[in-house]
Amino acid sequence: MKKIKKILAAALLFVIAGTLLWSKASALEPVKMIAVGVNDRMAAFPDAKPYIKGSTAYVPIRFLGEAFGGNVTYDAKTNSVIYQNKEQKMIFDIRGQKIIYGQKIISCKIFDQNGRTYAELRLMGETLGYKVDYLSKHRVVRLYNSEPHLSHPGFISQWGSRIHDYIYSKGPVVVPPSKPASQKTVYLTFDDGPSKFTSELIAILNHNDIHATFFQIGQNVKEYPSAAKKVADNGNYIGIHTYTHDASKLYHGTAGFMNEVSMTQKLIKQTTGVATSLVRAPYGSKPYLTQAYRDQLAAGHYKLWDWDIDTRDWEVRDRSDLVLNNVKSGVVSIQHRSTKEPMVILMHEKSVTVSILQKVIDYLKTQGYTFEKYDPAHHIVKNFWNDKRL
Ligand SMILES: [Zn+2]
Repeated sequence: MKKIKKILAAALLFVIAGTLLWSKASALEPVKMIAVGVNDRMAAFPDAKPYIKGSTAYVPIRFLGEAFGGNVTYDAKTNSVIYQNKEQKMIFDIRGQKIIYGQKIISCKIFDQNGRTYAELRLMGETLGYKVDYLSKHRVVRLYNSEPHLSHPGFISQWGSRIHDYIYSKGPVVVPPSKPASQKTVYLTFDDGPSKFTSELIAILNHNDIHATFFQIGQNVKEYPSAAKKVADNGNYIGIHTYTHDASKLYHGTAGFMNEVSMTQKLIKQTTGVATSLVRAPYGSKPYLTQAYRDQLAAGHYKLWDWDIDTRDWEVRDRSDLVLNNVKSGVVSIQHRSTKEPMVILMHEKSVTVSILQKVIDYLKTQGYTFEKYDPAHHIVKNFWNDKRL
C-alpha cells in the first residue's frame, strides 16, 4: 500500500557509502531504479537511468547537471566530466575517482555505464548545495535548495502515477528493476495498554524496524503516561480503547460510550501529542456497537477498527506457541479468501505476547507481509459491521 509520510520524518537519508567498494562483489547487491526530483520538477533521464545499489544512489552526471540548469561537457585530455553553471564549476575526475569543487576534493565513485558517466548522486547534489532526501516508499530522491518547494507529500501527490513512468518507462533501462514490493500488508495492533510491557514491545518493533498501532485505555494512560508517550515517540500510532474498558459501563447506551471515547481521545492528545480518531471497541464492535452507536461515531468523525486475526493472547496464559499457531491458521484462512486486503492482527500488552512477538514477525515476513501502522490519511474500512462510514 502506497502511503505518503510526513515531510522529513520519513525521509530516510542515504548512508554515504564510503565503505562500499565498487567491486565485482557488489554486483550481487540488489539494484533499484529510482526517480529524481529537483526542487518541484522531475528530472528526465532519456537514455540512462539513475538507480540505487547497496545504499548508494548513482546518477548520469549529464542529465542531473542539466536538471540543475548547468552545462555538462567531457574533457578527453584529463578524462574528466565538467559541470558548470553561472557560479559553480565541478570537475568529475574519472581516473582519480574524485570531485574537484573549488578548493574541495571529494572522493566519489565515477564510472561509465551504457555510454554515460555516472557519479554518486548525493555527493553531486550536496556539493552544489542541495539537500538530498530519499522517499523510499516512492523510490524518489528529492534534491532541493533554498528555492521555495513543495512539501514531500505535495511533490508525491503532484507527480502521482507519473513517478512510475519516470522510474521505468522513459527510454531504455540500464539495469533490471528489482521485484515490485509486496502488496501484502499486515497491521499489528496491541490493545489494553499502556502497561509495564509497553517498552519491551516497542524494543522488539524497533529491532525489526517496523511500527504498530496501540489501542490505549484511558485509565492506563493515566497510570503509565511515559509508556503512552513512548509509543508515539517511537513512531507508532495510537488509537482509543475507551477509558474504563468496562462493558457494563460502555454498552448501556451511547452516551456513556461516547463520553469515554472523547475523554480518552483528549487524554491521549495531552499525554502523547497524538490526535487520534480511531476507536477500537472493547470486546469488538459486534454485537455491541449497534446502529445507534455507529451513528454517533460517524457523526463525531471517528473511525472504527476491529481485526481479522485474533491471536487469543488474552486467554492462552503462558502458552506462547498457541499465539503463533493462531496467527498461522489465521493467515492461512485469509490466504484462502484470496484477497489483497490488508490484514489486521489483534494482540494485547501481555507477557506472553512479548515472548512470542519476534516469532510472529518472523513468520509474517516469510509469508511476504510488510508491516504498517494505521494511517488516517489512508484509512481502510475494517469493522465487523462493514460500516463504510467508519
Ligand atoms: Zn481490550
